[in-house]
Amino acid sequence: MSGAVDGPQPGGRAASAPLLGRQAEPTVFELSSPGRRAWSFRSSDLPSWQAHELVPPEHLASEPVALPELSERDLVAHHTRLTSRQYSVDLGAYPLGSCTMKYNPKLADATAGLAGLARVHPAAPAALTQGWLELLVGLGTSLAEITGMSAVSLQPPAGAAGELTGLLIMRAHHAHVGGSGAVRTKVLIPDSAHGTNPASVTLGGYRTVTVPSDHRGCVDMGALRRLLDDEVAGIMLTNPNTLGLFEEDIAEIAQAVHEIGGLVYYDGANLNAILGVTRPGDMGFDIVHLNLHKTFAVPHGGGGPGAGPVAVTEALAEYLPGPLPVLSHGRYHWQTPSRSIGRVHGWHGNTLALARAYAYVLATGGDGLRRVAEAAVLNANWLRQRLRGHYEIPYDRPCMHECVVSAAGLRRTHGVRATDVAKRLLEHGFHAPTVSFPLVVDEALMIEPTETESPQTVAALAQALIDIAATASPEDRHAPRGTPVARVDEARAARRLTATFDARGQG
Ligand SMILES: *Cc1c(COP(=O)(O)O)cnc(C)c1O
Repeated sequence: MSGAVDGPQPGGRAASAPLLGRQAEPTVFELSSPGRRAWSFRSSDLPSWQAHELVPPEHLASEPVALPELSERDLVAHHTRLTSRQYSVDLGAYPLGSCTMKYNPKLADATAGLAGLARVHPAAPAALTQGWLELLVGLGTSLAEITGMSAVSLQPPAGAAGELTGLLIMRAHHAHVGGSGAVRTKVLIPDSAHGTNPASVTLGGYRTVTVPSDHRGCVDMGALRRLLDDEVAGIMLTNPNTLGLFEEDIAEIAQAVHEIGGLVYYDGANLNAILGVTRPGDMGFDIVHLNLHKTFAVPHGGGGPGAGPVAVTEALAEYLPGPLPVLSHGRYHWQTPSRSIGRVHGWHGNTLALARAYAYVLATGGDGLRRVAEAAVLNANWLRQRLRGHYEIPYDRPCMHECVVSAAGLRRTHGVRATDVAKRLLEHGFHAPTVSFPLVVDEALMIEPTETESPQTVAALAQALIDIAATASPEDRHAPRGTPVARVDEARAARRLTATFDARGQG
C-alpha cells in the first residue's frame, strides 16, 4: 500500500513494520466490479428451476439485490487490511478495566475447532452426544467448585443474560416461599455497579434502589441497614467492586440481607481477582453469574459469542433454566429442574464457548487458576504504586485485579481529560483503559493489566502513562496522531448512526 505513515508500535515494543497508512479503506461496495466472484459452483446435473417456479411472482424483486461482487483475492486483502488497522488482544496489552480483556490461549480455540465438537448438530439426541454431555457436566462441576455453589446452568449466552436469569430465579424463589408477607419489589445495587445490573433488575420486574459507597469505596453499611426492609428481594454486588476494591464487610452484608429474607446476587463477570483464593459461596452469596468471555478464555466482544453461566445454592437449584445435563445410571441425560424458570437460550447455550472454557480450566488446573488471581492482583497493584504522584488515586489502598486512577489533576492544569489520556495511549501502542467509569470517580481511568501481561509490558504501560502525564498539553484533544483512524466523534456515531451504504456512492 502506498502512503504508509509510521504508526504506533503494538504493546510498546518495536514493531517490525509500521501499521498501514491513514487513507480510508474502500467498502466492499466500492471495490465491487460486475461479474467478479469469490467462489463458483460447478454445474450439477440436478434440474434447474426458474425463481418464479418456486416463489410466487408477487414476492420476487424486480431487480437483483445490489450485492458487492469481488474476487476471493480482493476480499481477503480487504479484510486483512482492515484487521491490520485494528488494535486487538492478540496485538498487545488491552487494559480495559471492568471488562477483562486478556490474552486467550490458542489451545482453547483448537479445542473448540475439533470436528467431534464443532460438527455436532444441536438437536442430536443425548444417546449420540455422550461426550458433549460429559464435557458440559465437567464444566458445570468445575464452575460449581470454583464459585462454591451447588448447581449450574450453562445456558445464558452473556453476562447480562446471566443477570436476568439470576433475577428470574430470585423472583421464582420469592413467589414460591413468599406466603402472605409483603410483596418484594426492590433490589439493592451499590452506586459503583456495572450498568447492566440496574438494567437487569428492571427487566426482571424489580425496582433498583441505589446503595451509596463510603469513604473506603465500599458499601456504606449504615446506609444499607436503613434501606433493608421486607420489600427488598435481594442485593446485587460485584466483589471486588468496580473500583477494584474488595468489599471488606461482605459476610456482614450477606447476613443482613438474609435476615430480611432477601437473596444475595454475585456479579462474577470478572473473576480474575479471586479465582482459587476465595469463593462467592463462602462469602454468603446465593446466586452467581460468570462471564466465561472475560475470565475463562472465551474471546470477548467482537471476538464471538460469549457465555454467562449461572450458579446457585442447593436451595435454588430447582429454579435453574433447563434442560440441564445430568449423569444417572452411567449415562448422560437432559433433565429440566422441577420449578425451572424455563429456557433462557436456544438449544444448550453457546456450546463452543463452553468447550473453550473447559479446555482452559483443565489446562490451567486448580493451582494454575490461583496463580492467575495472584498475578492479576500483583500486576494491578504494581501499576497503582508506579502511577502514584503522576495521577491522582482516589482510593489509594491495595486493589484487586484493577486499579482506578484519576486524570482530574491533568484537567485542572492542562485541560486534558481522561479520554485524551486514553487516546494518547494508542500513540504509544497500547489500547485505552476504561474511561469515565466508575461514575463515582471524576475523570476515571480504570486500568486492568490482567495476569497475561509480563512485568516488562506492565512497566512499559506505566511508563507510557507517566510520559503522557508529563507531556500533557491542550493539543492532546487531537490524539491519537499517526494511527489509521484519528479522533472520531463518538456522540455523533452513536446518535446519527448510518449503518447502510448506498451502492451508488451516496454514502
Ligand atoms: C461485562 C460485565 C457485565 C456484562 O456482561 P456482558 O457479557 O457484556 O453482558 C456485567 N457486570 C460486570 C461487572 C461486567 O464487567
